[in-house]
Amino acid sequence: MTLSIFLQSGEWDTILDKKKGRHGIRWLLLITYVCTGVIPLLLLSNVVFKTTEKYYIEERKKELLNQANILSGHIVISDYMYDIQKAEEFGKDIEQTSIQGGFRIIVTDAMGTVINDSNKTEINKTYLIPEIIEALDNKDVAREQLNGSIYAVASIVNDNGKKVGAVLIADMPTDITLKMEVVNKQIYIMTAVIVLVVLAVVFIFSQMITEPLEKMAKVIQKMADGHLDQRVPVATMSQNEIMEVGDAVNNMAEKLQQVDISRQQFVSNVSHELKTPLSSIKVLSESILLNGEAPKEMYVEFLQDINNEVDRMTEIINDLLTLVRLDQKEVPVNFKQENLNNLVSDIVKRLNPLAVHKNINLSCELIQEVLADIDATKLTLAVSNLIENGIKYTDEGGEVKVVLDCDHQNAFITVSDTGVGMAEEELGKIFDRFYRIDKTRDRETGGTGLGLSITHSTVLMHDGSIRVSSRENEGTTFVVRIPLMHS
Ligand code: ADP
Repeated sequence: MTLSIFLQSGEWDTILDKKKGRHGIRWLLLITYVCTGVIPLLLLSNVVFKTTEKYYIEERKKELLNQANILSGHIVISDYMYDIQKAEEFGKDIEQTSIQGGFRIIVTDAMGTVINDSNKTEINKTYLIPEIIEALDNKDVAREQLNGSIYAVASIVNDNGKKVGAVLIADMPTDITLKMEVVNKQIYIMTAVIVLVVLAVVFIFSQMITEPLEKMAKVIQKMADGHLDQRVPVATMSQNEIMEVGDAVNNMAEKLQQVDISRQQFVSNVSHELKTPLSSIKVLSESILLNGEAPKEMYVEFLQDINNEVDRMTEIINDLLTLVRLDQKEVPVNFKQENLNNLVSDIVKRLNPLAVHKNINLSCELIQEVLADIDATKLTLAVSNLIENGIKYTDEGGEVKVVLDCDHQNAFITVSDTGVGMAEEELGKIFDRFYRIDKTRDRETGGTGLGLSITHSTVLMHDGSIRVSSRENEGTTFVVRIPLMHS
């Protein structure tokens, strides 16, 4: 038997499809780590980068605005705006401060006309950029421009509190750009290191997961090819859920192997059992054919024997069919509440002629009214087998007794006889298919060795149990327990 019996071909296709994409788990882990580790890290780095840059720029803005204010105060104190004689000094002062600070300085009057420019290019021109208008109009301002430079403008307020002009400091913060490049580089290096670490971790983790799974898949594939002796090497696996799956696969393989062995045994038993009556038929029919001149009585006798053998084969085949149906659960179990008293007394009544024929006293004791959820047809067959055996294996003049009783949970049907009994060591085997204690004796009594198997399967189907006790030449007792309620 191969595993393919349990897995339809379509299911195998799915397994093989998955095998083709066997790096699935690796990719899944990688994507998970990238999504949960690397992407947030990159976003965080970006935020850190931007925040740091913004912080530097803000600090620089404050610094420049401060400088512009100082300059504005200096211009007022030095009276540069109104004293024409100080124009040259004013120009030098501005130039000096510009060189020292590394930025450009433009001074305008209240109308926005440039009265001093450290670069000297805008003097006397109107320079009404938004920051100057804002400073003259409202309040001092420092703002970053599109090209990255910073404009800080402070108004020049005279002693009467009137805005008489504005000081603009324009700075290109290259030092900040340089600093940020260093920060950026460090972030890149850190990200690369983390990505490498993540890749290594993903590889190791995925290896830990996929390796045993791949081993398992190979073993299962071999089992599917019929090698049921294959086992997943769970001893080499670390103790985790995958090892548990491996254990489960091994248990399944164990069961499959047992099923396979018992199936082979069953087939060989069936062949053997059918071969015996067939050989008899062959011998009997050949004898008739070779004895052309034989008297009619001999024909009748031989044909009678052939007929008996055919009956025996039919009996074996019928029993086999019943067992197969019970095994396959082909016939659905029809649980219904039934009166066991009626069921048992009906069986006893039906089998009484058999007992009378053998001069056996078949009695029935119904201790109390018993109602139970059972499949009446199946349980009738099971109990009949036990009583028939009792009659079959008890000599003339003996006794077979059937007792029905119950407690608050179970019904008990006891079938005891004063027959030939069985040796202790036989008791464990009598429920096996085709097991018969004395095969020659059974051929006379007409047993197939399947009756107790049928009874056993039926009782199990009812979630019950069956016990046997016996003594050779003293008798045998079977006790069947059936739960009153079927859950
Ligand atoms: P069979 O059709 O041969 O009776 P069973 O499966 O019913 O097959 O029984 C298996 C074997 O158990 C029988 O061959 C018989 O040897 C033994 N056995 C069953 N019931 C009894 C009994 N009441 N007394 C003695 N032996 C019994």
